Amino acid sequence: MGTRSKRIDDYTSYFERVLENIGDMAASEDRATPVLRTILYFSCLEAWAGDAFPRQRNKERFVKFLHEVAEWEYADRVSIPQLLQCTKPRAENEHCLQMVSKIYTYESKIRSDPKLDDLLAEIGIACKACVEPFQFSHLLWDYRNFVVHRFEFPGRATDVKAKKSDMPYYLPCDNALELILPVACLQKLCRHSLAKFDAWLKKHGIDPFGDLESKTCWKR
Ligand SMILES: [Zn+2]
Repeated sequence: MGTRSKRIDDYTSYFERVLENIGDMAASEDRATPVLRTILYFSCLEAWAGDAFPRQRNKERFVKFLHEVAEWEYADRVSIPQLLQCTKPRAENEHCLQMVSKIYTYESKIRSDPKLDDLLAEIGIACKACVEPFQFSHLLWDYRNFVVHRFEFPGRATDVKAKKSDMPYYLPCDNALELILPVACLQKLCRHSLAKFDAWLKKHGIDPFGDLESKTCWKR
């Protein structure tokens, strides 16, 4: 047990240094730096999610990690502006979008966004599949796809205020509300997640390195 606990400590301190290195990049004024830092923060979250739940698929384990290990404070909430602004509702979503728009209005405060269970209590459990993709944990994966696959932020996420805030927030623009996830918000999420993951690994007695060192063959 002593050995496993030491390996978890090594794993955590390795990633603490990784997070420090990514943080140090903030000193750069280059336009690409926030995108690069965001990609690296997502890589950390995905590495931890993969070590926590190695048998699950990428998105599934990423979302599960945010809820069950990191206990991200926003994970449970459903973004009403993202839901109501969804311009391509699948036909079967139409009914619940109407219900949601009768109960909720566009609010520019994330604390007005309901938790999934509270929303389902209002609109019915049958709509879980319609609204769950708009939970913050799922939206973070969508955001990750934008940044990782396109090397750019969606919308106007490079808002100047984003450089200071370490919380997600809505930015009114034209007649819409844009969800902004500042780099500092991801940095905070990663620091918090690593501490939670360290405790989670110790609680479950899991060696995060697994059989990595014996992987001379790269095919799974
Ligand atoms: Zn529905």
